[in-house]
Amino acid sequence: MQAQTHRTAPFSASPPSSARPPPRLTSPRPAAHYFPMRCPNCTQSNDKVVDSRIIRNGAAIRRRRVCAQCGHRFTTYEEVAKPVIGVLKRDGRREDFDRAKLRAAIAHAAVKRPISEPQLDVIVDDIIRELETEYHREVPTTVIGRKVLDKLEKIDEVAYLRFISVYRRFRNASQFLSEIENLITRQ
Ligand SMILES: [Zn+2]
Repeated sequence: MQAQTHRTAPFSASPPSSARPPPRLTSPRPAAHYFPMRCPNCTQSNDKVVDSRIIRNGAAIRRRRVCAQCGHRFTTYEEVAKPVIGVLKRDGRREDFDRAKLRAAIAHAAVKRPISEPQLDVIVDDIIRELETEYHREVPTTVIGRKVLDKLEKIDEVAYLRFISVYRRFRNASQFLSEIENLITRQ
């Protein structure tokens, strides 16, 4: 069974990209069932969809909304809900897999690096697809971390090093430097 989830995100100010914009839906307002979302600024549910686009190759729809009450602009995403995967943490605790949390961790490593918002989504979607294929109920966080590193290594070395410093919990500079050496010698 397929269900849809909605989540709100801040109106993103992504840098201008030379890539073609995602295809725009014929009408920004969903024709059959229109549900306003609660404005994150004034909490009123009285918005207007000003733009709807298909993103991530049809895996999601992004809607830009403007609040009729206070004029605040915000973005919502609609995507097929995935079956819940459990995450096994290093300390033995379990929690539900959280896409937003994974994306935030990667975005944190990618701050001020030339990795675009759509690129972040592609990385996250690729990892989730792999996890869903390889694991059915539970996946160790170490596996997820390793997958992030595999992706970042090919895209941006600084983001890779930032992520690995968290992932491997470096205790001192020499561990960090030896990882840089590994990175250099691999090239
Ligand atoms: Zn508002």
